[in-house]
Amino acid sequence: MQGEFNLDSNRYLADLLFDKDIKDFEYYEEKYPHRGLKEGVKVTRLAPSPTGYLHLGVLYSALINRMAAGKDGIFYLRIEDTDKKREVEGGLEDIVNGLISFGIVPDEGFMPDGEKGPYAPYRQRLRREIYHSAAKKLVLEGLAYPCFCTEEELEQIRGEQESQKIRPGYYGKYARCRSLSIDEIKEKLSSGAPYVLRLKSPGNEENKVTFTDAIKGKIEMPENDADIVLLKSDGIPTYHFAHAVDDHLMRTTHVIRGDEWISSTPIHLQLFRLLGFKPPKYAHIAPIMKSEGGSKRKLSKRRDPEAAVKYFSEQGFEPRAVLEYLLTIASSGFEDWRRANKDADIFDFDLKLNKMSQSGALFDMDKLLDVSKNYISRMSTEDVLSSLLSWAEKYDEALYNRLSGDKAYAAAIFSIDRDIPKPRKDIAKWNEAAQFISYFYDDTFVPQYELPENISASDAVEILERYAENPHLDGDKTQWFDSVKQLCSSLGYAENTKEYKSEPDKYKGHIGDVSAVIRTAVTGRKNSPDLFEIMRILGRDRTSSRLNRAAEYFKK
Ligand code: GLU
Repeated sequence: MQGEFNLDSNRYLADLLFDKDIKDFEYYEEKYPHRGLKEGVKVTRLAPSPTGYLHLGVLYSALINRMAAGKDGIFYLRIEDTDKKREVEGGLEDIVNGLISFGIVPDEGFMPDGEKGPYAPYRQRLRREIYHSAAKKLVLEGLAYPCFCTEEELEQIRGEQESQKIRPGYYGKYARCRSLSIDEIKEKLSSGAPYVLRLKSPGNEENKVTFTDAIKGKIEMPENDADIVLLKSDGIPTYHFAHAVDDHLMRTTHVIRGDEWISSTPIHLQLFRLLGFKPPKYAHIAPIMKSEGGSKRKLSKRRDPEAAVKYFSEQGFEPRAVLEYLLTIASSGFEDWRRANKDADIFDFDLKLNKMSQSGALFDMDKLLDVSKNYISRMSTEDVLSSLLSWAEKYDEALYNRLSGDKAYAAAIFSIDRDIPKPRKDIAKWNEAAQFISYFYDDTFVPQYELPENISASDAVEILERYAENPHLDGDKTQWFDSVKQLCSSLGYAENTKEYKSEPDKYKGHIGDVSAVIRTAVTGRKNSPDLFEIMRILGRDRTSSRLNRAAEYFKK
């Protein structure tokens, strides 16, 4: 008996290959029923392999899957841990905790405190019997067979195809074990020869399969005719097989994954069909790219520090700001939506898969910094302080001690130019904070005095000494400003730039120059937030001593 097995021989083969107590696949169909969700509600998933640390691309994909499911749908986390050799210690926890710390919380799946949800187990390593049940179903239907080819034999097939310039693969006449008789199989099995289980592909390379990708649109590719491996020699499924079984039984409606999987989609569609499953909708995400020497390449785990999500945490980026940035590259509609909905939660954005970028978007650090500045400028003082403190506790002990030593003082600093319609945009990430606020603390106040071009050192001394007589910090900002104007006119500076511009020869300079001198004395910098607020926070004594210190400096 060659090739075509009949029903009895299929059963005979299935009994040879699988444990007697493997359940029928119907058992799992009933155990994991349809979700009964309303029409159009999506079930999405992230299916990472714990073979490294949380990668920006995985975070990106998680975000898109979470957003695509929306608030009504289900987004779950499945762990594809079938490749023990490539597994990294702690990789699993890093992924799960990383996602949660970014606010991407799955509705079900593998969680830090264990499995959650009715479709468990969500770790592929715990789903062995399920894959075997599905594999047995295929063997029973004559759609799968054991292959005993050794590495050497496969190498020989490859060599033969290569030398004849023929498409590589285990298909057609190259699929040697496809035609083993049941007796031959039995004999090999009893000799203990290792084997894999292969699909008996009914496909034909000449035929086309077409599918509509939810992001990329209509795609046409040749049908799969390769007898791909379903179960490896240790009985562990391949990605292809596990994908079909899991996404069917977990009732995924949309498989949204990296576009490196497009080329495998004909295999996947074929598997769904042969297994009698309704295929999910596919959406293939374009990768995040990096520009290098004028060309584009994929962000690389090995070469780019920003490829690891850890990098953003260490630098002190606000997780939400990173997500916000990722959405700007995921969907062109996001920025318009954001302009129209300034205070809305990003998760309220209706991410449409068909509006997503079809080709790889460039990772743009400047843009991320800009988005982050905007984001932080809109945070309340309280939120700034609590985020900064939790970052500093982990990454900058000195800053943590300084801030937590007097939280009210720290809050006053961060409240400057905040909680107003046009808040000041300055800090993009928390590792910039220490430098940014250094002049508020005497031990980190290292002035870099700098004067406007038209102001001499002796002019500066005069301004500082006169201002120090009464810095006017007890009233409100208008009173203070009036006092500076008076100072201007008494010292021969114009009270505003317009006046100065109309008669420049009449003045030594204008109010901007006078404030610049006070600013450099008080903060040691050329630019700062609201000067009056800064002096109020520093207090009269410290303000005066800084004015004097600078005056002494300019006298030399
Ligand atoms: N484990 C696969 C990966 O990490 C999953 C791809 C998918 O989402 O189906 O690339």
